[in-house]
Amino acid sequence: MKIERIEAFQVQWSPADKPGQRSAFVLVHADDGQVGIGEASPMQGGIASLRIIVHDIAPAILQADPLDHAVLQDRILHRLVKLGPEGALSGALAALDIALWDLKGKLFGQPIYKLLGGAWRTRLPFYASIGGNGERSVDEVLRVVEQRMKDKPAAIKIRFDNDRTQPDADIAGDIAKARAVRRLVGDAFPLAFDANNGFSTGGAIRVGRALEDLGFWWFEEPVQHYHVKAMGEVARKLDITVSAGEQSYTTAAVADLIDAGVRMVQPDIIKMGGITGLMRCAALTQAHGVELVPHQTQPTVGLVASLHVAAAQAHATKPCELNDPSPRMHAVFADPPRAVDGLFHLPTAPGLGITFTGSPSEDGPRRLPIL
Ligand code: CA
Repeated sequence: MKIERIEAFQVQWSPADKPGQRSAFVLVHADDGQVGIGEASPMQGGIASLRIIVHDIAPAILQADPLDHAVLQDRILHRLVKLGPEGALSGALAALDIALWDLKGKLFGQPIYKLLGGAWRTRLPFYASIGGNGERSVDEVLRVVEQRMKDKPAAIKIRFDNDRTQPDADIAGDIAKARAVRRLVGDAFPLAFDANNGFSTGGAIRVGRALEDLGFWWFEEPVQHYHVKAMGEVARKLDITVSAGEQSYTTAAVADLIDAGVRMVQPDIIKMGGITGLMRCAALTQAHGVELVPHQTQPTVGLVASLHVAAAQAHATKPCELNDPSPRMHAVFADPPRAVDGLFHLPTAPGLGITFTGSPSEDGPRRLPIL
């Protein structure tokens, strides 16, 4: 099998989508007619990653063997390192890696989780990740949580998505929302609080103590992601589990978080390394006794790729992330991942087990090629 052609494109989910709301996909065509699909982080529509794929990566790997995916990834990373490596380049490499694993599964006629060594579980619970709570009133937060509880999540995470340049803007209000959600769902239901980098070190410790009293399960990204030592200090001072890592783009960056004291890391398969990268993180976390709970907000290719890796891990301490309902959903896939009674069933078809069908109509999602 050889790589014959690579397409990179955005999907505009509705005519009203702004460029930043588009998804970023890559299709790798092999010479035997098989096609693998991958996804890059959709920050600003993923256009920077897609342009790197078209202009810098594709010409270098035509005629390569898809089974050499790890060699290709590391070769390109080192060749193009000064384009990043964080963000646009690592998102491009993640998309390519996922597409090559999809092809590998199709070549062997096996789902990816089998190629990773097998699944510890083929039904995976999820937690409902609820964004936008910083700007909501307490009552509005409760109404959204009630709505998402209908999907039967195993846990709820409330995200604050505040302005990262205004730390500690409303600590009392944030704690009040956490307290109200705890009262709504009862003492036993697992809850998490995602600060989205919204606090100073002292502010984070104050909020973390309140979350401990409220029995929250974890406290995510309390301080700026680039203050790795501060993240570690907060993690070490608090009893609640502090998590971070969705803004780590290399295995080495995840290792730095662990060294600093973070004991639950959340690398994202479409931002760093793809399936190959996430499996490297799995080895790293397993060796250090650190929880691996991948970040994932994209509901199609990114989610299903992440589920294959999560299923292959012995230690699943937390459910998988499922973001807010979004227009970036299922219209261009034949067999998208959907939870049934609170569980995702791992696809058993070869590769990822998700099929891109293209645009169903002119009024619906549109495919925008990258030039
Ligand atoms: Ca987060």
